[in-house]
Amino acid sequence: MVFREKNSRGSFKPHLSIKFRSTEGKLVTFSIDTTRTPAKYQQPDAYLITHAHSDHNGKSAMLSDRSVCSEKTAIALEIRHDRKYAGRTFKVGETIDVSGVKVHTFPNFHTVGSTSFLWENEVGTRILVTGDVKDASMLPKCDLLITEANYGDPGDTTCFFDDDLEGFENAVRDNPSIAFGAYAFGKAQRAVELLRGFGYDGVIEMDEKSLSLTRTLLEDAGELEYLGNCCGDSICIVPPWDLDKLPSNISKFVMTGRSDYRYPAIQISDHLDARGLVDMVKNIDPEFTVVYHPNGHRPGRFAKHLDSIGFNSLSIDQIENVLSNEFV
Ligand SMILES: [Zn+2]
Repeated sequence: MVFREKNSRGSFKPHLSIKFRSTEGKLVTFSIDTTRTPAKYQQPDAYLITHAHSDHNGKSAMLSDRSVCSEKTAIALEIRHDRKYAGRTFKVGETIDVSGVKVHTFPNFHTVGSTSFLWENEVGTRILVTGDVKDASMLPKCDLLITEANYGDPGDTTCFFDDDLEGFENAVRDNPSIAFGAYAFGKAQRAVELLRGFGYDGVIEMDEKSLSLTRTLLEDAGELEYLGNCCGDSICIVPPWDLDKLPSNISKFVMTGRSDYRYPAIQISDHLDARGLVDMVKNIDPEFTVVYHPNGHRPGRFAKHLDSIGFNSLSIDQIENVLSNEFV
């Protein structure tokens, strides 16, 4: 059963929850990408955290000993929020047991450590929760798909894009002194992986948070240094808003699809675009799809589009199944 929870103020908690029957016949509840329920109320059996981006609420869930996420997501949460992760971890690809219910885990390449979760219930229905997705090639087939629509509005031209890998490589080749604006978690690690993939083996200088996350999370990051004067023969990576602080003789770019920065943008995304999301659904070929993320109108638009091309779909705001804490 898929349902939404309400908090004590009567508004919806973020995202959703699912119940399964364990091998012993007990109902087991998984809350997904949601905030902790106050200790005085009944707790779910697990708070699943798909990845360490703030809009998936790991900052709150990580403090419960019932939180469950990948080893790398736990490390990222600890570095980002400077608090101890209290739950259990797994390596992406492993199958874990939560209170007698098996949960299979898959990579979706959105961030380091990001995970999709799959269950098979007692009548053989397969349920997949994707989290945010960059590459769906490792995701399994399922009957009920619960997925995202960060760029899922087919009527919005900004939801269609391709990564500009060539532009990124050319920028590095053509500018002896260069800095990239990239968010510390996610984009900064993607930038380092791409640079090393191009064959750049020089020093990469980073701000403290990006450096700490990248050194800890990436196995083959090469030589990384704390930001020095950033005008030698190294490449600098800092959050976009810190580009202004770097010397003016450096060529500066922002790794984003947005066009409202004062520096040229290079389109490198952590997400599938609208076309990619539709292809993912076609490949997974579910009986039914629930679009659960992000806030706003995009889940509704994506669900409507899926419906129009023959995939039965609902967005999270259409789910009427509510389990309020008052009744738990
Ligand atoms: Zn994300």
